[in-house]
Amino acid sequence: MSKKPSLMPIDEAIQRITELITPVDEIQTCNLTEALGRVLSQDIMSPMNIPSFDNSAMDGYAFRHADLSKVDALRVVGKSFAGNPYKGALSTGNCVRIMTGALLPPNADTVVMQENTAIDGDLLVLNAPVSEGEAVRKAGGDITSGSIVCAKGKRLSAVDIGLLASLGVNQVTVFRPVNVAVFATGDELLSPGNSFIEGHIFDSNTPMLTAMLQRLGAQVVNLGIIKDQPKAIEEALKYANAQADCVITSGGVSVGEADYTRQALSAMGQVNFWKLAIKPGKPLAFGTLPDSVFFGLPGNPVSSAVTFDHIVQPALALMSGEARIPALRLIAQAAQPFRKSKGRTDFQRACCFTNDVGQLMVYPSGSQSSGVLSSFSKSNCYAVLPQEQGAVSKGENVTIELFSQVIA
Ligand code: AMP
Ligand code: MG
Repeated sequence: MSKKPSLMPIDEAIQRITELITPVDEIQTCNLTEALGRVLSQDIMSPMNIPSFDNSAMDGYAFRHADLSKVDALRVVGKSFAGNPYKGALSTGNCVRIMTGALLPPNADTVVMQENTAIDGDLLVLNAPVSEGEAVRKAGGDITSGSIVCAKGKRLSAVDIGLLASLGVNQVTVFRPVNVAVFATGDELLSPGNSFIEGHIFDSNTPMLTAMLQRLGAQVVNLGIIKDQPKAIEEALKYANAQADCVITSGGVSVGEADYTRQALSAMGQVNFWKLAIKPGKPLAFGTLPDSVFFGLPGNPVSSAVTFDHIVQPALALMSGEARIPALRLIAQAAQPFRKSKGRTDFQRACCFTNDVGQLMVYPSGSQSSGVLSSFSKSNCYAVLPQEQGAVSKGENVTIELFSQVIA
């Protein structure tokens, strides 16, 4: 008996969540220097051709290719440097010394790289055949004026910032960041930095979830640790709901404790307690509060991280106006066996590497207990083992998912 029909598949959970999410529509103008990780609220069209002029891809000599059949040797008559071009046009049979990025003289169409030439007085000797148009970067060859270079919904990377700068852009319009309030529940929790008390544990989830949210470009309201008391939880939820678009809590959604959160939540909004068909991370609460959406993540740190990564992250991407690119999945070969019981999709902590013959391999990176962050910290991917899959033997194919920047 491996089928557990009461467990909700992860895709169904994401679908249900998606239906209740409203993307932010407030727009901000932001300087390019501050735009890393922001989400574009409109397409950016190039105001110019890139390159904007024909220029040389090499250090060498520029000439008109047709002249090669008209003269015995080309004559070097000047220089064109990047930012300091040769003035005037070339007469038949003439060429100029040219450097990478320098403007091609108007009637030149070809550059020979200097390694294939020699100089004899003021004449150029070609040591290898040159084809027409060689080593020339044509105007508009990369980007044509008016074309879309970065589309609405793109989260700007460092390379995007370089690309936009190359077009002379120094401001962009972006969606305002999503505001997210976070707190952890649990009478056993201590804030890192305080003295350790026997029988307690340090709160790893608030710092971890805050860091994950920062990676996603969210504005975080960190409420820290809240006691397992309905009144305290209710007050924290009220405050969080007033401050944020999204409220995330950790702990108190598993069977033993759900009542505290459930009680507080039922007074405020519509929240469902689900049992997801994933491991780690079975219990999850999701719903709507008066002014925000709510995610109640499991307290075990690995479960918290995995549910954040696979469920909260796509929801926040949608809320941020981001056109999300799904995580990259690859097929690797099991270098060691994986233990697995049927019934849930496992996101096992794993390490992938390429072996001596270039084959992508993967092995489990240690304890798969949902409380063990140390094996997560040593991993670089998930082994995604489907719901109905049992144990995996050495040598079998395994789907892996490389860590997104939320985890890595
Ligand atoms: P819960 O989901 O509240 O039943 O907690 C499940 C397990 O996760 C328990 O062992 C808790 O002590 C632990 N836990 C809950 N919250 C945190 C937290 N913020 N940091 C680290 N461990 C936690
Ligand atoms: Mg708890």
